[in-house]
Amino acid sequence: MKHFDTVILGAGAAGMFCAGSVLRADPAHRVLVIDHARAPGEKIRISGGGRSNFTNLATERGRFLSDNPRFCASALAGYRPGDFVALVDAAGIAWHEKTLGQLFCDGSARQLVDMLLHRMRQAELWLETAIGGVTQQGDAFRIETARGPVLAKNCVVATGGKSIPKMGATGFGYDLARQFGLRLVEPRAGLVPLTFAEQDLDLCRPLAGLSVEAEVSHGSGKRATRFRDGLLFTHRGLSGPAILQISSFWRPGEEISVDLAPSLDLAADLREQRGKAGRMALNTALARLLPARLAEAIIAELRLDGTRLADQPNAVLDRLAHRVHRWQLRPVGSEGWRTAEVTVGGVDCRDLEAKHMQARAVSGLYFIGEVVDVTGWLGGYNFQWAWASGHAAAMGIAAA
Ligand code: FAD
Repeated sequence: MKHFDTVILGAGAAGMFCAGSVLRADPAHRVLVIDHARAPGEKIRISGGGRSNFTNLATERGRFLSDNPRFCASALAGYRPGDFVALVDAAGIAWHEKTLGQLFCDGSARQLVDMLLHRMRQAELWLETAIGGVTQQGDAFRIETARGPVLAKNCVVATGGKSIPKMGATGFGYDLARQFGLRLVEPRAGLVPLTFAEQDLDLCRPLAGLSVEAEVSHGSGKRATRFRDGLLFTHRGLSGPAILQISSFWRPGEEISVDLAPSLDLAADLREQRGKAGRMALNTALARLLPARLAEAIIAELRLDGTRLADQPNAVLDRLAHRVHRWQLRPVGSEGWRTAEVTVGGVDCRDLEAKHMQARAVSGLYFIGEVVDVTGWLGGYNFQWAWASGHAAAMGIAAA
């Protein structure tokens, strides 16, 4: 039987990064990384449209969802976006800042995968290797694999969440957590398009493919969450960054509210136009303020086609503005694991210690990355969590 100091389950962002960090801290450490996929870091490769939004300079714990919102602060403070940027620079990978601190590769995300592979080159990497069970044997872990059993002092679970099963995602990490007595926060799809009932699709379907800047909100009062970003109409509902963001907060049965023109005061703007050019057709006036297809669809829905601006009393303009600024919707669901970018929920942070991501009750067992109940907003935060949590575990392992 082969013996290792540390076996890492999952050669994704967190697992590869953790392997490299352990080896940097202790080059003599014997590390094995196992994955059932054919290639490592597949989600990195396809992320950000092939350019990977690999971190966000605005990373702080408020940009993450978790039942224990303070948990992620320690790991995030121990490894910051600037630390990862320094690695990327040292590897000669060119990058640019898109918006709001989001950093992308100029070229291919494969460069990042290569960088991570190079960093962990002293580790053994077993790809296309199914993992059976993990059990404790004395003070070590025995891991059954398709290449035979291995023994290791530390076992790091970096098998990610359930999103995109086609890319190798499984609930393996959750099953393992349960087996070792850790609690789970029910996993659900996040950063995912939302789907709607027939009556709401009346507006979405004819506008499928249209993208507008919108403000989408969820909840009310102090607990309200809002995102202003692109919104995309689809045949089954709504997508685009603003919707993906809100989807991570939304629970079945809840409503969301959409402002389709957040930078306008539509009622005031239409009144002003009515004073200046009352003879203008209402749909022409609205099409000056909104994308023409959207203006047309809303005018048709409110049965205001063929009317002139001058004929509309304030009450009608207010109704029109209300329709645009306060569209209340109750999604019937989401597009699910098939397209979700992340999994919200996962291994309950109460059962992990925040500094090194080690299970409180099982010495030597670590959970890192997306398998943990820490989920970033859209914009590079999820990779930053993968790097930071992988680093935190590595520091714990190297110091033990
Ligand atoms: P993963 O990267 O998912 O790695 C888990 C690994 O474990 C995989 O290699 C998998 O094959 C392996 N595995 C799973 N189950 C088993 C098993 N039973 N046996 C053996 N191996 C197993 N985040 C960002 O920050 N920026 C982006 O631009 C971005 N874009 C994204 C685009 C898409 C389309 C998707 C799906 C996600 C995107 N994300 C992005 C999210 C990001 O990819 C994940 O949060 C991140 O990859 C999580 O890292 P991880 O190592 O925890 O899990």
